[in-house]
Amino acid sequence: MTRNDCLVRDAHDDLGALRDQFDLPDGVIYLDGNSLGARPKSALARAQALIRDEWGTGLIRSWNDAGWFALPCRLGDRVAPLIGAAAGEVVVTDTTSINLFKALAAALRMQSGDPARRVIVTERANFPTDIYIAQGLTLWLAQNWSLRLVDSPEEIPDALDERCALLLLTHVNYRSGYQHDLAALTALAHARGALAVWDLAHSAGAVPLELGAAGADFAVGCTYKYLNGGPGAPAFIWVPRRHQEAFAQPLAGWWGHAAPFAMAPEFAPAAGIARALCGTQPVLSLALVECGLAVFEQTSMQAIRAKSLALSDLFIALVEDGCAGHPLTLVTPRAHERRGSQVSFAHPHGYAVMQALIARGVIGDYRAPHIMRFGFTPLYTRFADVWDAAATLRAILHENAYDRAAAPTAVT
Ligand SMILES: *Cc1c(COP(=O)(O)O)cnc(C)c1O
Repeated sequence: MTRNDCLVRDAHDDLGALRDQFDLPDGVIYLDGNSLGARPKSALARAQALIRDEWGTGLIRSWNDAGWFALPCRLGDRVAPLIGAAAGEVVVTDTTSINLFKALAAALRMQSGDPARRVIVTERANFPTDIYIAQGLTLWLAQNWSLRLVDSPEEIPDALDERCALLLLTHVNYRSGYQHDLAALTALAHARGALAVWDLAHSAGAVPLELGAAGADFAVGCTYKYLNGGPGAPAFIWVPRRHQEAFAQPLAGWWGHAAPFAMAPEFAPAAGIARALCGTQPVLSLALVECGLAVFEQTSMQAIRAKSLALSDLFIALVEDGCAGHPLTLVTPRAHERRGSQVSFAHPHGYAVMQALIARGVIGDYRAPHIMRFGFTPLYTRFADVWDAAATLRAILHENAYDRAAAPTAVT
């Protein structure tokens, strides 16, 4: 494929028109939308209206008049179709870490009747916050709960033994881009008597999801990555209707109360998904999540997935072809069904090479050890961008144009 072929492909791409709805700086190829999504153009006007009119003029009245109070559940209903959930099963609130704490606590409580089942199974390669939150919870509960870390996806089936209460997995690994089989592992966990909790941080808006059809138990996910909700935008939590009545979580604040304004001294959980709420929400950043979701409503996850795979296939082919002879190792699975929407290559000087790429306007990121991550976001990544990014990487490696002494400092 030539660069010209890429331009032709972009011209015929149905998703191409949606790129116009994002504000992307000139001279930058942005391949880090898996970490912080680009800004929908509409977010600026939305923020201005919210600050000037809803806050400035509406003041306290806006909790009702501008729909602030209902926003977490309203946004949840717009996330639902993207993850295969029903209306009334998702709420946008708090952070992924906090929502994971709630989901795990609720799940452990549901499993607490069997004193022989006291193990949470997850992967050593899981995103650290997921491990820390699970660890923290086991220490806090102190009822012999423990965490078991497996070293590879192949070890998961054996780890789902008679002591396992809960399988906690991140569906698409943040570092490798490996995608678990959500339906098969959920079914296996259930067959072995465990519940399945999924972290969709690198899946929501990136790959089609069918949580309800898979019969998963709980899920959490991020809105500031592929969903383009803005830096630090609130996360979401999914509790399927069949578990809502049993869903009790320790951060049961007044927003999760059946009648928050009754100001009663006893807690009584809200009937539906609202019981996953805790307290007052950051309305400014919550409201902007809607701008990102509005773009997804103009296409389908199937169209996004088809383009994502075409983009990542092209990048892998161009890099392997153009950079042959350099010590690059593809870390991301080649099999489509095992791949998310990112491509990771390991290089002994991965950090330095990524710094050189960023200096030339190709923004990906680096994750220790040695891994360069390239995220593909079909709403705004073009085939020509992929071609240019691969050509830039090839030039840097051929010219040895990176600082071998550079060492990772802060997250980029
Ligand atoms: C990005 C990410 C998070 C982020 O959690 P925060 O609470 O928003 O910091 C959590 N889990 C996974 C797997 C992630 O990739």
